[in-house]
Amino acid sequence: MTANDTAPPNTRRRVNATIAAGMALLLLAGAASSARQSAVTKPRTAEEILQLVSKLRGLDVKRPVNSGAKTHDEIEASVIADLDENTTPAEFAATSKTLAKLGLISRTFGLREYVVKLLREQVAGFYDTKTQNFYLASWIPLSEQEPVMAHELTHALQDQHFNLRRFEKWPKGDSDAELAVHSLIEGEATVLMFEYSVGGGSPVDLSKIGSLTEMLLSQSDASDSARFPVMSGAPAVLRENLQFPYVYGVGFVQGVLKGKSWAALNDCYRNLPASTEQVIHPGRYLNHDNPVKIDIADLTPSLGAQWSRADYDVNGEFGYLVLLGQFVGKQQARQAAEGWGGDRYALYENRQTGSLLLTQFTAWDTVKDAEEFLSVYLERTAKRYKTPKLLPSPTGPAVSDTGEGLAMIEMRGRDVVIIEGAENREQLSRLSALLWRSSKK
Ligand SMILES: [Zn+2]
Repeated sequence: MTANDTAPPNTRRRVNATIAAGMALLLLAGAASSARQSAVTKPRTAEEILQLVSKLRGLDVKRPVNSGAKTHDEIEASVIADLDENTTPAEFAATSKTLAKLGLISRTFGLREYVVKLLREQVAGFYDTKTQNFYLASWIPLSEQEPVMAHELTHALQDQHFNLRRFEKWPKGDSDAELAVHSLIEGEATVLMFEYSVGGGSPVDLSKIGSLTEMLLSQSDASDSARFPVMSGAPAVLRENLQFPYVYGVGFVQGVLKGKSWAALNDCYRNLPASTEQVIHPGRYLNHDNPVKIDIADLTPSLGAQWSRADYDVNGEFGYLVLLGQFVGKQQARQAAEGWGGDRYALYENRQTGSLLLTQFTAWDTVKDAEEFLSVYLERTAKRYKTPKLLPSPTGPAVSDTGEGLAMIEMRGRDVVIIEGAENREQLSRLSALLWRSSKK
């Protein structure tokens, strides 16, 4: 959110950066307050909680932090101001088109309006890097206020020590790396919120409280539709993107700490996690398994004057998990997305007809990883367009008529190239030749 700190909402299909910066989500607050073991005694003031969180985290308080309360309407106003400042209507439209082409939302879905409603429901508090104050949603139950304050005050300490504003104007076109940084920030604040709740302000051995990711995943599966109607009615891509920095961020932080003191996390702000792959598998962050950077040619000259590039970004392991998981089983999607090495996609739009053409170049760690992805992507594509499943061809690309143009999926070595929405075979082979010339570093 705007008002909140860190997150430059990005434009790309990742709605979550837009939504997730510096906030605490209501559904987490509930989980944290039910994790509380000690009986709630006298409520603590923000100043007392700041001192406790500072001690637990091992970061000094450099300046006091002011706080305020916001109503639903005030939070909504902050969300809207943030969106207006950070995401142009054209960028929102581009994100919507990519999500629609992937079959994750309908073409007429009002993305911006839904994001506003979702945040109005879910924001339990946020930290504002501009004013360096934090705000608490005025309607949340007393039992949830302290955990949310612990979360937001962690953001204040992060900002005082690591400067959260430097993450705000993230370069466009790599939302996977941006999401990884948000996961560090939100993961840290969420783990401290749990540590605060479980220990009542005393230190807790984090390696003994089990996987917080598993705990949050199991809770979000059973999301409370009576309490959170907007969240539970949201398209899966919105729900999962909103939750990712929290749900997987806590696992990242636990994985990096693993028995070490909190000071071990400070280095993550110098050596930022570079991909959602590193967040999902913290060992790969620690082993410096960095993403392959892919540069794909701009196909506009080849497509013709009526076409323009609408969107350009990186899906990442998490993006593939979500976009495959919409059509195949979650476990199958998870396995297919694993072994991701790097990717880049571009979406083109025909301004006359409104047709969309999506191109993707993906690189995988091994030939076997590429084969697994190829096979599941073929299955997903048949389900997405309701066409018979294509078989990978040993001699050339798999091509099918989707009813929204031709789709082509081809593997060479450890790379897989995908085109969806070509007008004819001649165009398809021309675009494919250009895409295969993409550079990797
Ligand atoms: Zn937060």
